[in-house]
Amino acid sequence: MEQPTAQPSRGLVLIVEDERAIADVQRLYLTRAGFGVHVETTGEGGLERIRSLRPVAVILDVGLPGIDGVEVCRRLRAQDDWTPIIFVTARDEEVDMLLGLELGGDDYMTKPFSPRELVTRLKTVLRRTAGVPRSGVLRVGSVALDPDNRSISVDGTAVELTAKEFDVLAYLMASPGRVFSREQLLSAVWGQASYTAGRTVDVHIAQLRSKLGEGSPIRTMRGVGYFVDGGRP
Ligand code: CA
Repeated sequence: MEQPTAQPSRGLVLIVEDERAIADVQRLYLTRAGFGVHVETTGEGGLERIRSLRPVAVILDVGLPGIDGVEVCRRLRAQDDWTPIIFVTARDEEVDMLLGLELGGDDYMTKPFSPRELVTRLKTVLRRTAGVPRSGVLRVGSVALDPDNRSISVDGTAVELTAKEFDVLAYLMASPGRVFSREQLLSAVWGQASYTAGRTVDVHIAQLRSKLGEGSPIRTMRGVGYFVDGGRP
């Protein structure tokens, strides 16, 4: 059993880097700092994973085979995707362009860099881009979820959840009506990119439904994923 006091993961970070040795060091330090990590070696692969895994941030090498880091960022921003991006570049003179309004990079590191510094920068970017903290109780149907004291009630009666069950429900309830795939939930709540661990999600959803009873707002979209019924976020 998971203990309710377990620390939630800091979320999944996507590294897009074609130099294996650099990616390995980045992965090591980010994992130690509590992040889940997925590595892609091409711009195309990176774009695909940003869309499918919805990482909390991207460490994006500028010099990539195929479409480069600049183009990856440009395409994302053109689709109004503002996933935080930290560029990794070999050339200082690109910096104004990378952080400019058009591209909207959030920070940059010049090679060679200290992996420790990368972790510090990442945490700063995540704090800065977290926006206004969501305050107040989330309600969907008869379920009320208080993010501040991590409590849940159904029709006013408190329900005990494990830490992960709470995190899954909070994530779904923050975007009522929006469908999340198992991969997205895994990456957001467990900080893992895994294509075989979908059952972990299913098991937690089943437990949540059983604990919430008839008031459970969690719905299944067959073959796609899970969502909670609409309502005011
Ligand atoms: Ca490179």
